[in-house]
Amino acid sequence: YERVKSIKTDTKELNELATSIEELARQLSEQEQLRKRLSNDISHELRSPLAVLRSQIEALMDGVLEPSPERLAKLNDEIVRMTKLINDLNELVIVESEHLRLNTSKVNLENELSTIIEGFIPLMDSKDIKLMGQLEKDIFINGDRDRLKQIFVNLLTNAYKYTNRGGSIKVTLTKSTDEAIIRFIDSGIGIRKEDLTYVFQRFYRGDESRSRKTGGAGIGLSIVKELVKAHGGIITVDSELGKGSTFTIKFKLAT
Ligand code: ADP
Repeated sequence: YERVKSIKTDTKELNELATSIEELARQLSEQEQLRKRLSNDISHELRSPLAVLRSQIEALMDGVLEPSPERLAKLNDEIVRMTKLINDLNELVIVESEHLRLNTSKVNLENELSTIIEGFIPLMDSKDIKLMGQLEKDIFINGDRDRLKQIFVNLLTNAYKYTNRGGSIKVTLTKSTDEAIIRFIDSGIGIRKEDLTYVFQRFYRGDESRSRKTGGAGIGLSIVKELVKAHGGIITVDSELGKGSTFTIKFKLAT
């Protein structure tokens, strides 16, 4: 009887082991698929600026086009754009992988946000955009100051890019019993309802922004989302086309 019992236990353990191996295999194949999708996306994104460069350079070599300073400047713009894209992609790979190490300390959000807002004022002035901060004092979270700055700068840059001349942008900082709440509210072009759920996906760009030729390749918000997640926070968006958008971030308060 003892032996039967021990065989039974063994079988149970083996079954459990089999289940965890299956789970591991499932996770690995999921990661593999993600990796494949990422490298597909990357080659797709790099191919189009490269194709532009190539055809222009061939035309210059064949003497079909004159190497005017304007034309060369355009080629250079394309190279600058590609370099930025590669840097962004690199950053995305880091934040999406496990390599993201947060250098955590207790952060005073009002201090961080007011410094960043101040730094943005000249840029906003150049587009006649009114930028204000309504920041409550003494709100602390545990976070990585550089990474937090990256989140805020990214959201403000978007607000700037997608707001027309003469518009306004407001940053608010409040708290509930256990959360810090930061909002970036712009009076910009807004986001279509059907786009709202996709804006945090990598390489996603709304039609409006694509036709505007502003901005990058739709990587910024996916980096922001990963960074917020790494801080244990959540980010959401609300928007009305033609009226403006509000990005809301919630972080646990430091105790
Ligand atoms: P990018 O700005 O380079 O296109 P992002 O990942 O930062 O990439 O943003 C993804 C898309 O979300 C943008 O293309 C745009 O359509 C939309 N979006 C982001 N922020 C705003 C905003 N403040 N107002 C309107 N649309 C926005």
